[in-house]
Amino acid sequence: MIPEPLVETRQLGGLRMHAIQAGGQALDGGAMFGVVPKPLWERRIPADARNRIQLGMRCLVIEHDIGPILIDNGAGNKEDAKFHEIYGVENAGADGRTRLEDGLRVIGLTPDDIVMVIDTHLHFDHAGGNTMRDTDGRIRPTFPKARYIVQEGEYHYATHTNERTAGSYFPHNFVPIAEAGLYDFVNGETEIVSGIRALPTPGHTPHHQSILIESAGEKALFIADLSPTTAHLPLAWIMGYDVEPLVTLETKRRVLTQAVEENWLLIFEHDAKTPWSSIVRDGKGFGLPK
Ligand SMILES: [Zn+2]
Repeated sequence: MIPEPLVETRQLGGLRMHAIQAGGQALDGGAMFGVVPKPLWERRIPADARNRIQLGMRCLVIEHDIGPILIDNGAGNKEDAKFHEIYGVENAGADGRTRLEDGLRVIGLTPDDIVMVIDTHLHFDHAGGNTMRDTDGRIRPTFPKARYIVQEGEYHYATHTNERTAGSYFPHNFVPIAEAGLYDFVNGETEIVSGIRALPTPGHTPHHQSILIESAGEKALFIADLSPTTAHLPLAWIMGYDVEPLVTLETKRRVLTQAVEENWLLIFEHDAKTPWSSIVRDGKGFGLPK
């Protein structure tokens, strides 16, 4: 199932933001909720006959003064049928491209218009669209006129994998970008351009980053895999995929506390339904406003 709608648009202060649902993904519910028992998580997101839950792969376009900025870019068009079957990825778009390009077209953009691509981390379902397989079979940057941004530590981690981490990092998603000289690496908390800040949010990977967007006193956080869906807001609801789950726990405690205190809008990358919401304290943890 492909989550709809393709594009949702809203204003944040003086900035216009478009959430593009770059496709569907179906992953094992147990892996998505770590140590949380199934009777609890399936009340929030029901499982299919293969115990998989429906997820999205939401990307964000910000209409910034420097031009359109894209945060994350889905799974791309380079993988084979077996990959799409295993991970339940449904993201085919027009002309052999992906739904991300379809979504860009809806908001009047082409990949050549994107001036900056920010990768929260380099897992295949977030950075797979960095590059594309062209009609001649060659792999090239999808956004050739953009500067690409990622934490330097994440790039190093992605290019020095082990048996536990290798399954999520496909070199053809990021090595061609580095070879083309398109990456600008950042280290730690960094103002990337005015109003857009890289916020290290370690745990899912050691150098995972979330992106804080600020305009006219309003703030939004593209939280990425720190809380992939709204169902992951309770502090202990942490993915089995996270390489440092106890680090995720402390990062969530810190970031979600600040999000409540400063009334941030959170943007949820993998949620099949809810693109964004403010959050509230809920008992000892956090949740959506009732
Ligand atoms: Zn990830």
